[in-house]
Amino acid sequence: MSKRQNISILGSTGSIGQSTLDVVARHPERFAVFALTAQSNWQDLLKQCLECEPTYAVLINESAAKHLREALKAKQSTTEVLVGAAALNEVVAAAEVDCVMAAIVGAAGLLPTLAAAAAGKRILLANKEALVMSGQLFMDTAARSGAQVLPVDSEHNAIFQSLPESIQRAQGTLALQDFGVQKILLTGSGGPFRELPLSDLDQQSPQAACAHPNWSMGQKISVDSATMLNKGLEYIEARWLFNCQRHELEVLLHPQSVIHSMVQYTDGSVLAQLGQPDMRTPIAHVLSYPERIKSGVDPLDFATMGALTFAQPEPERYPCLQLAMDACWEGQAASTALNAANEVAVAAFLAEQIPFTAISAVCTHVLEQPRISVVDELAAILACDQDARRQAQHFIGTRW
Ligand code: NDP
Repeated sequence: MSKRQNISILGSTGSIGQSTLDVVARHPERFAVFALTAQSNWQDLLKQCLECEPTYAVLINESAAKHLREALKAKQSTTEVLVGAAALNEVVAAAEVDCVMAAIVGAAGLLPTLAAAAAGKRILLANKEALVMSGQLFMDTAARSGAQVLPVDSEHNAIFQSLPESIQRAQGTLALQDFGVQKILLTGSGGPFRELPLSDLDQQSPQAACAHPNWSMGQKISVDSATMLNKGLEYIEARWLFNCQRHELEVLLHPQSVIHSMVQYTDGSVLAQLGQPDMRTPIAHVLSYPERIKSGVDPLDFATMGALTFAQPEPERYPCLQLAMDACWEGQAASTALNAANEVAVAAFLAEQIPFTAISAVCTHVLEQPRISVVDELAAILACDQDARRQAQHFIGTRW
């Protein structure tokens, strides 16, 4: 085996960040942690720093960084604390870094993930927003530098594992049909409100929306799973990662979350990846690809699993899903605007300012506003994102 890989983990205090550290800790001979980052949660970052002894720890919040610096000094730690968003770019692009886990939630993950792409790193991509906001730009940036992009999202990781090796290695540049691929079937559980009477949807609390039946995740993605906007963002992510045409991508409900997605071939074969709903499996896969390592996840027990079922998502229950699928093919500006509108709406829902059903209303309103049609440069993408946020805030302020 080659030398230990040096990893920077963006968003190490989050759900994906913690699962990554769990897998990394099982393989000290393979991985060393170069940097850990968070927004403001210095207490958890402190514990992680004492365990992993990274060279750097980064916090966005200044006073949190001060607390962390003092606490690390008291423990004679050698970890250096950096502060601010620019430091995120430094700790992913540093020459010592081999591999970057991109696990910041939301649009805040875009710039450091792009920095990792520009620096030619091996990127373990959990932050789907980078591709939703800047699909072509991100893929082009990675192609120019030779950065390898490996999907962490369980669905994309399942699709990746079910595709031929030549497509895996081509990073979204080959035509699927040339390899006998007919369709990618992107599966989703339908979230906690799949069987709720539609008339009860607008009374659902943030706690109920975050109580996902199968997965334990951060709050934002949990709410997105309840609206299925998460599946919509994944649909856009899949389009870029695998170079899909519209007729090659379909969303399917699979409430048990045992199959994590499938690839249908022209000869009638369907290849799927199955596993427990535990993100340590896809994380271990991308950390060691193309080898396999232990993740700490229990094997599936087929004898006790029960039935696996499938269905079409109901459009009236999940309006956000259709919004995202339409935005995907409308163009980059629509995807960027939708992502921004949804982030504002989900934050307002979590703060109990708007009801659950208002999330789709806010997204619909923003997508109906006029916007520039082409955004293929970073400045235009960021301007489009900011415009959509203002429109969403204004709509929420006047309506609720
Ligand atoms: P969490 O909310 O659990 O964690 C988010 C992480 O990002 C935390 O470390 C947080 O720091 C940090 N962070 C938040 N805001 C900022 C900011 N403005 N600048 C810098 N860092 C910030 O999220 P998840 O782990 O659930 O999700 C992370 C990403 O992975 C998302 O893009 C999500 O869609 C994707 N993903 C998640 C899955 C899951 O199972 N959770 C599955 C597949 C994809 P702090 O703790 O200080 O707030």
